[in-house]
Amino acid sequence: MSDCLFCAIVAGDIPADIVRRTDHTVAFRDIDPQAPTHVLVVPIEHAPDLAATSADLTATGQLMADAVAVAEQEGLATEGGDRGYRLVLNTGIGAGQSVFHTHVHVLGGRQFAWPPG
Ligand code: 5GP
Ligand code: ZN
Repeated sequence: MSDCLFCAIVAGDIPADIVRRTDHTVAFRDIDPQAPTHVLVVPIEHAPDLAATSADLTATGQLMADAVAVAEQEGLATEGGDRGYRLVLNTGIGAGQSVFHTHVHVLGGRQFAWPPG
């Protein structure tokens, strides 16, 4: 999509700190990290939000599996229960979504509150 920020990052037209790339997704560090590790995982194929992406079950599964792979690559995988990570999918303005290309936030490296607020 021509005026989409994350499509431009996927295409390499806007620079980003890319940590992982598959045939289906690109993962790069968030420009304004909310935790010691904060990576965004985005489908290569543009869709505005998870509701749209979820029409394609394969794409949705690949997105989630690649988010887990990023968490493991970043050393966040749970070991003995003392580590972990949070996956966030803001969907819609009311939930805090600001970039309308589906993305999973992979957050880790600190303690997270629950409920999230
Ligand atoms: P949302 O609020 O839509 O769930 O998340 C969008 C995220 O994209 C935010 O955490 C924001 O910091 C990040 N972001 C916005 N612009 C850029 C950019 O140009 N580069 C990178 N790497 N992240 C960005
Ligand atoms: Zn896009």
